[in-house]
Amino acid sequence: MNRTIKAVKKSLASFLAVLISIAVCFAFLPLVSFAETPSTSGTCGDNLAWSFDTSTGKLSFTGSGQMNNYDAKLDDELGIRITTAPWGCFYNDVKEIDLYTSVANVGNYAFYGMTAVEEVGMTAGMSIIGKGAFENCTSLKSIVLPRMLSTLSDNAFLGCTSATELNIGMNLSSIGDSALFNLPSLTTIKVDTANTTYSAVHDCLIEKSTNTVLLGSNTAVIPYTVTKIAPGAFYMCKDYVISELPVNITEVGFAAFYGCSGIAEITIKSKTVTLGSFAFDDDVIIYCYSDSAAKTFAENSGIKSFNLDYCENHIFGEWTVLKEATCQTTGEREHYCTVCVYKEKSSIPRSSHTFGEWTVRDEPSCKEEGVKVRRCIYCTETETDTIEKTEHTPSADYQYDSTGHWQICSVCEQRVNIEKHVYDSTDDTICNICGRERSPDDYIKGDVNNDGVVTDQDAIYLLFHYYFADMYPINQPGDFNGDGAVTDQDAIYLLFYFYFEDLYPLH
Ligand SMILES: [Zn+2]
Ligand SMILES: [Zn+2]
Ligand SMILES: [Zn+2]
Ligand SMILES: [Zn+2]
Repeated sequence: MNRTIKAVKKSLASFLAVLISIAVCFAFLPLVSFAETPSTSGTCGDNLAWSFDTSTGKLSFTGSGQMNNYDAKLDDELGIRITTAPWGCFYNDVKEIDLYTSVANVGNYAFYGMTAVEEVGMTAGMSIIGKGAFENCTSLKSIVLPRMLSTLSDNAFLGCTSATELNIGMNLSSIGDSALFNLPSLTTIKVDTANTTYSAVHDCLIEKSTNTVLLGSNTAVIPYTVTKIAPGAFYMCKDYVISELPVNITEVGFAAFYGCSGIAEITIKSKTVTLGSFAFDDDVIIYCYSDSAAKTFAENSGIKSFNLDYCENHIFGEWTVLKEATCQTTGEREHYCTVCVYKEKSSIPRSSHTFGEWTVRDEPSCKEEGVKVRRCIYCTETETDTIEKTEHTPSADYQYDSTGHWQICSVCEQRVNIEKHVYDSTDDTICNICGRERSPDDYIKGDVNNDGVVTDQDAIYLLFHYYFADMYPINQPGDFNGDGAVTDQDAIYLLFYFYFEDLYPLH
């Protein structure tokens, strides 16, 4: 397991290194062109030769027998680790590797860090792929192992992050540590059906003797017969989704589902399954029994969990509306216990009508109120309301008589804006509005002081008139009580009229 942790660190470091190398490479491009031209061919075994075609990007091998072993060395100039093989200087140029010759093996670290390689073709008879042989070949599209290959050494394809397909032949019987670790783009895993050690089921690579999923792909479905998930099996498979861990699984290895961001929730019904460190991302939600090992794992890892067994007194969260209620149908809502997985549903009562916009049925006029209607958006229910009468449309001309002036509405022909005449003073004889000339016969009964209204001031004025007729002339006969003379009694009568109009009619 420690070796796996190391491998994770190593692969992360080399990934960074590759990034840096790209930048560095561009920076040093002019320098490289002035340096001595590297050799494009040579030998790499007693009876094995290599050549690189710079125009096609193809690295080819001819001959037979063993390939030399190499190392992964930090290149001081580039600042990254690449193979020490003689073609290492082309690490960023080789796109294709042709090993269709009678070569028996791929040497250790032979193609380590060759970041441009997309395709590798290997002769079917090859038996061994050495340590770290294709490690960090980050552009490699597929891993098609030779049909007769028996041994895949440690780290052989570690960190081939673009590989979507893994194809294993009939003879493979040994897969070294981290040989197939950190392959986050895998979607297809195939194993020759004649292979007695491994099999592929639903894009899972399974070690038959231990019923262990060694490696999964983004599209894998874990078979129910499996009992273990190997460390890092689904590491960084972002598209991989699983909702329930199969109950037969007893062990999930270190970082098995780490970086599987597609797994938001997982149900673990087994009470005893052993979960390795970082088995899941920290933000996953685990549904498990309160007395299970998974619960302990969740608590120790700071992972949120819900209990599959119900609590005695649920603590419900907010309602979630599943279906809104209408005036015709009841709605539906649910809420969950925040401790266990208990879910409660209830109906939402029918709501009142939901009326839409008002529409005018009858336009209002100055003669009649209008009518507006609105309809429920869910049923045939309607609601009506009146619309206020509109303003009149007065004529421009004024009509008048002795008491006042008015206009005629051109729509309803009624008198509108009826007002008393407007004079500036008692001497002014022309109405400011309608232009009518005042005649001496125009007066308001009781308005003896001629200010346009009858008030208690008129009673006082009449009293003054009684005493000082010259100084206080009146504009009408002053015998309001009808006793045949104008006296102070008429002033009192006028006052009474002002307060009790009905009881004291003016004569
Ligand atoms: Zn509960
Ligand atoms: Zn309705
Ligand atoms: Zn009108
Ligand atoms: Zn007037």
